[in-house]
Amino acid sequence: MGRIILVSNRVADISKAAQAGGMAVALADTLRSREGLWFGWNGRISDRRSEQITTPDISHINNTTIATLPLSSREHEGYYTGYSNNVLWPVFHARLDIAQFESGHFERYLAVNRRFAQALHPLLKPDDTIWVHDYHLIPLALELRKLGVKNPIGFFLHIPVPPAQIFLAIPEHRELARGLAAYDLVGLQTKIDVGNLIDYLQDGAFGQILKDGRIRAFDREMAIASFPVGIDVEGFVGQRARQTRDRSPGIARIIGVDRLDYTKGLPQKFRAFSRFLAQNADYRGKVVLSQIAPPTRESVSAYADIRNELETLSGSINGRFGELDWVPIHYIHRSAPRRTLVDIYRSSRVGLVTPLRDGMNLVAKEYIAAQNPHDPGVLILSRFAGAAEQLKDALIVNPYDIDEMATAIKTALEMPLEERQEHYDSLIDGIKRQDTFMWCRSFLQALERLGRRGTLAV
Ligand code: UDP
Repeated sequence: MGRIILVSNRVADISKAAQAGGMAVALADTLRSREGLWFGWNGRISDRRSEQITTPDISHINNTTIATLPLSSREHEGYYTGYSNNVLWPVFHARLDIAQFESGHFERYLAVNRRFAQALHPLLKPDDTIWVHDYHLIPLALELRKLGVKNPIGFFLHIPVPPAQIFLAIPEHRELARGLAAYDLVGLQTKIDVGNLIDYLQDGAFGQILKDGRIRAFDREMAIASFPVGIDVEGFVGQRARQTRDRSPGIARIIGVDRLDYTKGLPQKFRAFSRFLAQNADYRGKVVLSQIAPPTRESVSAYADIRNELETLSGSINGRFGELDWVPIHYIHRSAPRRTLVDIYRSSRVGLVTPLRDGMNLVAKEYIAAQNPHDPGVLILSRFAGAAEQLKDALIVNPYDIDEMATAIKTALEMPLEERQEHYDSLIDGIKRQDTFMWCRSFLQALERLGRRGTLAV
C-alpha cells in the first residue's frame, strides 16, 4: 500500500493529537498504521525571503514525515486572514454581508497554494494517495496537476457549502470551481452541501452529472460525496480528568461550548435563554446557562463586534434577572482544556448548540458521548448545524426563532427520564457508528477506489 500524504493549513502535533481533538486523532491514527507524510504551514510568520522557500523543514515522528514551511507576513495577511478568513469563511457560512472582497488577496491565496505545490511535488512518490484539507487549500490539486502530478488527490471541506446563488457572488468563484475539479474526490460534511455544490456547478454551467454519479467539469471527472466528520467516542470519554464536585447543587446547568464566532448563533442563544427566564419566573434561581466561548481570530473586526454584542447582552440579562446569590449566565471568554469538557458536559442537564450555520459541530456529538446513560441530559441542536443531518433525535430548533428555542429549553429541562433515554440511545448509537475512524477510512477507501478505476487523466 502506498503512502498517505496529508496536506492542511496547519500541521497538528500528532504526538498530542488527543488534545487537539477529532480530526487530528483520526489522521494520527491513520498515520500510525500506514507510512505517511503531513505537509503544511509551520505556524510561523517570517520575512519576505520566506516567499522563495520551496524546501520544507523535515522532521520524523515514528513512520510519519512532517514537512512544513513558514509564511511571510504579507502571505499570512493575503492568503490566511484576507482570503481564507475574510472571504471563504464568511461566504461559505452564507454571510456575504461581512465578506471583504479586497483586491490582491486572491492572488496571494493562489501564490501560497502554488508555493505549497512546488514544495510538496519533489517529496511525492507515484503510489502516494494525497488528501488535502479545507478551504485554505482549494487550488492545491490544480497547482500539483500543472506540475504533472497524476496521483489520486482528494479534498475534504470541513465547512459548509453555501447555496449556489451565494457561491456565485464570490468574484473568483470560477477559479475556485476549476480548482475543485482538479481533485478526484471532493468530500463534504452533509448531503445538503453535496446538493449545493452540484447545483452551483450546474447553475454556473461548469459541470454535468455523468451516469455513474460523478461530475464532469473543466474537462475532468470528479466524485462529490458526503463523509460526516465524527468523534473518537472512547478516546474522548476516556480522557475524563476527574469527578468534579457539584458546586451548585439544586441548580440545573445548560451548557454551551463554542469558539466566539459569528456563525455560532451566540446572541440568539442568550436571547432565547432570556426569553425562557422572562416566561418562566419559577425557574429563576434554579437554572444557569454556562457559556464557554474561547477567543478566535481576534484581528478580524467582525469578531470584535460579536464579542462586544455578546458581552453587552450577557451583562444586560444578568442585570435584569440576577440576584445577589444567583447569576443566570456564566460567560467565560477562555478555552477549556478538552479533558475537563467531559465532566462539564456530563453534569449539564441540557446541551445548547445553536449555530446559524456550521459544517458539522463536534460539540453536539461530544455532549451526547459524555452523558450518563442512566440519567442522560438533553441536546438542543440547530437545524443549520451539519450534525443535525445525523442527530435527528435531538430537539431540533431554528436558531432564528427565539420563542421556539425558549420553549425547547423548557421541554428539555422537564423531559421525563424514559424519554431522555430514548433520545440518548438513538443518538449515541449513530455517534458511535459514524465515528472519526469511520470518516477517515471511508474517505480514503473511496478515494483509492476512484484512483484504481483509472479516471485520473488530467
Ligand atoms: N473545544 C475545546 N475547548 C474549548 C472549546 C472547544 O477543547 O474551550 C473543542 C471542542 O471540544 C470541539 C472543538 O473544540 O472538539 C470544536 O469543534 P466544533 O466542530 O464544535 O466547532 P469549530 O470550532 O470547529 O467550529
